[in-house]
Amino acid sequence: MTNVPELFGSMVFNEQVMRERLPKEIFKALQNTVNTGEPISSEVADGVASAMKDWAIEKGATHYTHWFQPMTGVTAEKHDSFISPADGCAVIMKFSGKQLIKGEPDASSFPSGGLRSTFEARGYTAWDPTSYAFVKDSVLYIPTAFISYSGQVLDKKTPLLRSMDALSKAAKRMLKLFGKTPDRVTASVGPEQEYFLIPRELYKKRPDLIITGRTLFGAKPPKGQELDDHYFGSIKTRVLRYMEDLDNELWKLGVNAKTRHNEVAPAQHELAPIYSTVNIATDHNQLTMAIMKQVAERHDLVCLLHEKPFAGVNGSGKHNNWSISTSDGENLLEPGKDLKNNLQFMVFLTAVIKAVDEHQDLLRLSVASAGNDHRLGANEAPPAIISMFLGDEITDLLETLASGKEYSNRVGNKLSTGVQSVPEIYEDTTDRNRTSPFAFTGNKFEFRSLGSALNIACPNIMINAAVADVLNQFSDELEKAKPAEFKAAALAIIKREYIAHKRIVFNGDNYSDAWVAEANRRGLLNLKSTPEALSYYDLPKNVELFDRLKIYTDKEVHARKDILLENYCKVINIEAGTMSELVLKQILPAAIQFSTMLADNVAKLTALKANAAMQTKMLTAVSELIQNAYAAVQKLNDAQTAVKAAVGLQAEADASYNQVVAVMQELRGYCDKLETITPKDLWPFPSYSDLLLYV
Ligand code: ADP
Ligand code: MG
Repeated sequence: MTNVPELFGSMVFNEQVMRERLPKEIFKALQNTVNTGEPISSEVADGVASAMKDWAIEKGATHYTHWFQPMTGVTAEKHDSFISPADGCAVIMKFSGKQLIKGEPDASSFPSGGLRSTFEARGYTAWDPTSYAFVKDSVLYIPTAFISYSGQVLDKKTPLLRSMDALSKAAKRMLKLFGKTPDRVTASVGPEQEYFLIPRELYKKRPDLIITGRTLFGAKPPKGQELDDHYFGSIKTRVLRYMEDLDNELWKLGVNAKTRHNEVAPAQHELAPIYSTVNIATDHNQLTMAIMKQVAERHDLVCLLHEKPFAGVNGSGKHNNWSISTSDGENLLEPGKDLKNNLQFMVFLTAVIKAVDEHQDLLRLSVASAGNDHRLGANEAPPAIISMFLGDEITDLLETLASGKEYSNRVGNKLSTGVQSVPEIYEDTTDRNRTSPFAFTGNKFEFRSLGSALNIACPNIMINAAVADVLNQFSDELEKAKPAEFKAAALAIIKREYIAHKRIVFNGDNYSDAWVAEANRRGLLNLKSTPEALSYYDLPKNVELFDRLKIYTDKEVHARKDILLENYCKVINIEAGTMSELVLKQILPAAIQFSTMLADNVAKLTALKANAAMQTKMLTAVSELIQNAYAAVQKLNDAQTAVKAAVGLQAEADASYNQVVAVMQELRGYCDKLETITPKDLWPFPSYSDLLLYV
């Protein structure tokens, strides 16, 4: 049996370890940095580095790494050992404050969107002291931000930290008007992570999964998710062993893995941690994804984090539960028992409403990827239209205020199970709405449009920035009001802004066609594809927003847009190339073999004057599909050529979506039909049933 409290955080250089091992003044100075965001001095850095090294060596570390999150979407690390030459042939283990604070990976091959040319490849990593270092696989991992020689951001962490500062400043400014002066205000996030587990030996037989992370072919299995028997179902032993192992590894690293269950699709599961400050939640989520894959290897499984590994069953998402709270522990999105008198809550809530409406485009594009395009709007995830669910109670309150009437608080009704022995429970005053992209769930917002593979820094930068900006606008106005007029001024803002932005509020079914039409009538954006969403990134309003809050410069915004467009084109190009190759080298040869079998059979039967009618029919069907598939491969190659001929990244991305993706779907259709009629022993790949039902 695992002793969880003992195991938890045992590989983390956390507050408790620091308190034990750091000289008092150094510990205090570091805590001050963590709490207030003040910079750190070189003496403090030296003191921390020395204690950190001794501790890491005791935990078996021989190397350290500055761990960072470049624009590739995955984390990056380069290991340096602690060894340093000493007298004679000896070595000693050394680690200085300078090495802790700053690293200089030769980082010329990371995407920079033109911010850096290869000949001036300098990139620096800078320690993020607010996220704890940890030891994994005999390496001391130091969470860092990654910036260029001239200070431009090259990663996802730096802008996240900047957005946190912007939000903290803006929220503190607003709270001051309510007579509160916390040290810091931070966004907290709990990301729920979905994933698939499939047997490793079958994975190895699927080049599409190996190369692209998803199946490019695969006929719909006779049994998918239609019986809903997997969702929350009892967990198979092999999967449970995996989950236990995963929890243990995560707990050692101080990740608060809390909830685990089976998800809707067969072989799909979820892990949710307890929420934490957003930069830590981001590091932990990246770590969780890495450990999920690593632990799977030990169990002869493969963990798939692609947003849509299998067509026809649900893909995987990641729900980003977001709230803001003060260093005094107050959640600013907590309505409390007396909603109607909670002016502060209403101001913050209204700021979020306005922020989401004004920056629908940023929220949408922050979750855009080739993989996520398969999910949004496919009745398994929210549509590409961004809207907000507030629930009846809060909508009622805002509607009442907007119409100038008095609001009276609601009370939750008693729920009865009709069984005497079951205790009475009170109903929540708002229900859940599982179809909304951005839902208020009691004391937090749940942003549900994220794909499973996404780095959560992306959407949180946008939410933090948008909300900070609106809070600043509100403060500009409220700071001018005299104390006696403050309440009336705040109510006037709430009323005015709710009326101006209520089009973003939708409490109904986001999966329905009626909503698409209604959203269109309301003038909400419906950005269906990644290239279309990304085209909004550098709109003047967005460039100005990031510039005002010192999150990105104009140049950095353009660089990010270019990196994402280019990445999209590359992903589609790799998928199309893989598809052509597999069709030509594996699928068509198998189908041709089958058609030869049929042709032989028809010829022999006809020679004997026996009935060959059905075999002839089958032969015709197979032949036709072979012709169509081959023609579609040619078409796919032509579409790829058209992309190359397009001028500019946006045009290339548009052509990738409009031409290449469309032909890939057509080609897949023929191949999937062939799979359903070709004998299993001839078909080159394991089927969906093999992959999904046999763990
Ligand atoms: P559900 O699947 O019902 O949405 P889960 O329990 O799977 O709920 O996940 C909810 C997530 O929301 C958890 O990660 C939880 O820690 C997080 N969460 C709860 N309260 C807050 C909050 N105030 N701020 C941010 N995240 C929160
Ligand atoms: Mg959940």
